[in-house]
Amino acid sequence: MEYYSKQISNLIAELSSLPGIGAKSAQRLAFHILNMPEEEVGRLSSVMVEARHNVHYCKHCFSLTDDEVCPICANPARDHKTIMVVEDTRDLAAYEKTGKYTGVYHVLHGAISPMQGIGPADIKLKELIQRLQDEVDEVIIATNSSLEGETTAMYISKLIKPSGIKVSRIASGVPVGGDLEYIDEVTLLRALEGRTEL
Ligand code: ZN
Repeated sequence: MEYYSKQISNLIAELSSLPGIGAKSAQRLAFHILNMPEEEVGRLSSVMVEARHNVHYCKHCFSLTDDEVCPICANPARDHKTIMVVEDTRDLAAYEKTGKYTGVYHVLHGAISPMQGIGPADIKLKELIQRLQDEVDEVIIATNSSLEGETTAMYISKLIKPSGIKVSRIASGVPVGGDLEYIDEVTLLRALEGRTEL
């Protein structure tokens, strides 16, 4: 990229480090930004910096929020005795889009993966077990159907079962290795309705 001056090259390099942005898209975005009015660029960058600064984990479910408690946990109309366990906040968003799930969530921020050296202590598992001190009727495990997701589901069910709390797993039918966020709403609902007790 030696035909671009240093600051343009830097901008392209930063943009191309983002997921899903190849060299071509990074160039297109860079020139788009350079053609934007300066105050618009300022707004874009400050929205990013502020979101990064203020967004943290909900103290109950560990989804991302800029409040102390996320809107779902703060909603008294939700069924707080049913907890759906998901790998990340995007999976939560996928289920919320169906508009049919009325319980609350627990976001693990990952899955157990011995291959990648990710153990139970590296995800928000201890925090899930702590939540079970409150009155809970059912824990629905909705981790992905990848090897890591299945390993995590097995681990959680073994951990919770002795407590007598009902543990269920969403139905397969969700493609193997499929990230929940890419699965359509009908399939997600079917997987939820067809869940089986572990
Ligand atoms: Zn929450």
